[in-house]
Amino acid sequence: MARSKVEPKTQSEFRQPLKEADPDLAGLLHKELARQRHTIELIASENFTSRAVLEAGASVLTNKYAEGYPGARYYGGCEVVDEVENLAIDRCKQLFGAEHVNVQPHSGSTANQAVYFAELAMGDGILAMKLDQGGHLTHGMKINFSGRLYHVHSYGLDRETGRIDYEEVERLAREHQPRLIVAGASAYPREIDFARFAGIAASIGARLMVDMAHIAGLVAAGLHPDPVAVSDYVTTTTHKTLAGPRSGVIICRQKYAKAIDKAIFPGLQGGPLVHIIAAKAACFKLAATAEFRRRQQQTIANAARLAQRLQEGGIQLISGGTDNHLMLADLTNIGITGIEAENRLEEVGITVNKNAVPFDPLPPTVTSGIRIGTPAVTSRGFEEPEMDEVAEIMLAALHAGAITAAGEKALKRRADELLAGFPLYPHL
Ligand SMILES: *Cc1c(COP(=O)(O)O)cnc(C)c1O
Repeated sequence: MARSKVEPKTQSEFRQPLKEADPDLAGLLHKELARQRHTIELIASENFTSRAVLEAGASVLTNKYAEGYPGARYYGGCEVVDEVENLAIDRCKQLFGAEHVNVQPHSGSTANQAVYFAELAMGDGILAMKLDQGGHLTHGMKINFSGRLYHVHSYGLDRETGRIDYEEVERLAREHQPRLIVAGASAYPREIDFARFAGIAASIGARLMVDMAHIAGLVAAGLHPDPVAVSDYVTTTTHKTLAGPRSGVIICRQKYAKAIDKAIFPGLQGGPLVHIIAAKAACFKLAATAEFRRRQQQTIANAARLAQRLQEGGIQLISGGTDNHLMLADLTNIGITGIEAENRLEEVGITVNKNAVPFDPLPPTVTSGIRIGTPAVTSRGFEEPEMDEVAEIMLAALHAGAITAAGEKALKRRADELLAGFPLYPHL
């Protein structure tokens, strides 16, 4: 009997690349890649992730349902994704010296929500940093779930020094007896004394949650005081200084492990994004390398250099400088608002965000300041000489009373020339 040859039947959608299946969308992705390549990215919460993380995040793991946890899933076929999740957990534990880790939170906000959900009853007290002085939406903003479901009191900065007023934290803790104290910020340029927060929490029998979303990369590299050793809970994003995929993680003491895992699933989320958990695993591996540590050091050095140059050029920085990857400029003395500065810099190829300064008289849609960060440009390869050029372009754009179109073009050209030496994702 003649053996008939069976032709494999591959569905066309398994073959067709995006640019054929959906040219409109492919065009937009290409446009965004071009934007990223041709702007000096100084948004403090952004970074360029690695090719490895991009590949893991765009993998077939997106096809898999895996509700539950490794070894205890609600779906079959989870033997491989169990290995993926365990790899991510083990690497994260190792990286931060953690007792327990949950790698399933979809984002930093969800990680925070899960800790509150595990630890607090509705109406319980939280003491956290004021949003307009550097805190985050999930630290008790009025219309955020955190401000609506819990009783939030806020601490702020010392008006003179621009630094956290630890005595005020202590006073408010005594007065309001919150169940949870939250430390960590989105726009704070100085080291945070987590041990001091831990002491204050212990003195009133409160729990401490550190939200290290912005500084996780610095912590992983041992370049910022460690929150993990002194806190009950530590939450983080993985896409800021840590340079991983857009996502979140919760680290906690073993005694809270069950409650945290339950809060994430089935409390708040359904199936985990296993492809993003894989991308987190890749991120944690890279974050344990000497190269990553060197990059974090350079991120801090670049911020220090940019801060110095901007100050020499007449820009005022909150707290007079920076210890970490970001700085907050108060533009009041040069007579422009945050939104004006953001727009002017955009015209010359530099991306920043307008940001309220402490005790800002202007509304959040306008603001008196901008937040400037160095993680993304450092990932791209910028060092001190490049930061000097960035500072010159920024100062020229910010100081120009009425900058001419030609002047603007010349600055944009300088930005382009600088970027040309540091190709972004050459494989794409
Ligand atoms: C960015 C950030 C978050 C939230 O991260 P998302 O992933 O955007 O939800 C939470 N806390 C702090 C302090 C942050 O800076």
